[in-house]
Amino acid sequence: MNKSIYLDNAATTLLKKEVFDEMLPFMVDNYANASSNYDVAKLAKKAISKSRQNISSLLNASENEIYFTSGGTESDNWAILSVAESYKEKGNHIITSQIEHHAVLHTLEFLETKGFEVTYLPVNKNGQINIEDLKDAITDKTILITIMTANNEIGSIQPIKEIGAIARKNGILFHTDAVQAFGHIQIDVKKMKIDMLSASGHKFHGPKGIGFLYIKNGVKIKPFMHGGSQEKGFRPGTYNTPGIVGMGKAAELAKADVESYDIEKNRDYFINRIISEIPECTLNGGIKHRLPNNINICIKGVDAEALLVLLNESSVYASAGSACTTGEPNPSHVLTAIGLNPNEAESSLRFTISDLTTIEELDKTVDILKKHVSFFRSKNKQK
Ligand code: PLP
Repeated sequence: MNKSIYLDNAATTLLKKEVFDEMLPFMVDNYANASSNYDVAKLAKKAISKSRQNISSLLNASENEIYFTSGGTESDNWAILSVAESYKEKGNHIITSQIEHHAVLHTLEFLETKGFEVTYLPVNKNGQINIEDLKDAITDKTILITIMTANNEIGSIQPIKEIGAIARKNGILFHTDAVQAFGHIQIDVKKMKIDMLSASGHKFHGPKGIGFLYIKNGVKIKPFMHGGSQEKGFRPGTYNTPGIVGMGKAAELAKADVESYDIEKNRDYFINRIISEIPECTLNGGIKHRLPNNINICIKGVDAEALLVLLNESSVYASAGSACTTGEPNPSHVLTAIGLNPNEAESSLRFTISDLTTIEELDKTVDILKKHVSFFRSKNKQK
């Protein structure tokens, strides 16, 4: 994507050169099955173990609590379906939020067809749940709370520590979809009392098709698939060594980002320029408790999909809502949940930056945006 301006890092991120360099030997040179017993296979196994170490240290978890999967969707499905299966004797009630990713929402809708009951907690205009609503929703049949760490459309970060404390106090398992948060903000599974956590490699400069599920030791969980003995028999299938090694390297590199909050400065600079230079623009969601890379703006009277076409022609890549809902006829469930009307939701654009995004790119984008927005607005006036 040379010369283009890529501002869709919540959809996916660039695979960093250092990550690729780490993966390459395990594709073309040492392609051994990591479960085999000869020396090169042992090297692959060792590399997998290093990756597990890098990931677990970023979460303050133990290495044996990390289970490699094919990505965020699989991790979410595994966590939710398996808790439902393992704890069905205890109860059939699950609590979530209205703004979860479809990997969670559609899994829960499936469980509803099997007799489970789901409470969908509302969020405020900043995209956060109310802790009192959570406490009120708990019944003696509640077996799981699944609430995302941070939202993929508006970047709102949930009060994870408080949610974890309530779940633990009530003896309820707590799963969090951290696909947008892992590698971007600090997460401590011990302090936050998280029992299960989903993440995905391609959201933090790692490869696609690889992710993991953190499962706290002691949580009774069933395998999602049946097969070989990989991942203690809980997640069978030949190890995706290059993917795992790449994700581990990406986690190691992300540590620096997580510890310094540098991207946030660029985010705020971009938001301020748009809001102050383009009339009738508002930020969707709050600025506090927001992912450092997320900008979601409502540009009054402008059709976001049409604007994206013009931005695309100018080689600026952004999105309206999430990549997984592209083509859906209904306005975003996240934007409507924070109180936007359908027109406002359809006038909203998401820009997601990364540590590789430059101020020059952001300045250029604002200039291009200004030009296209005035074009739309003058066209609207003529109608
Ligand atoms: N959960 C969230 C919050 C996401 O943003 C995504 C992907 O965009 C997923 C889950 C699914 O992850 P994957 O693409 O790795 O299956």
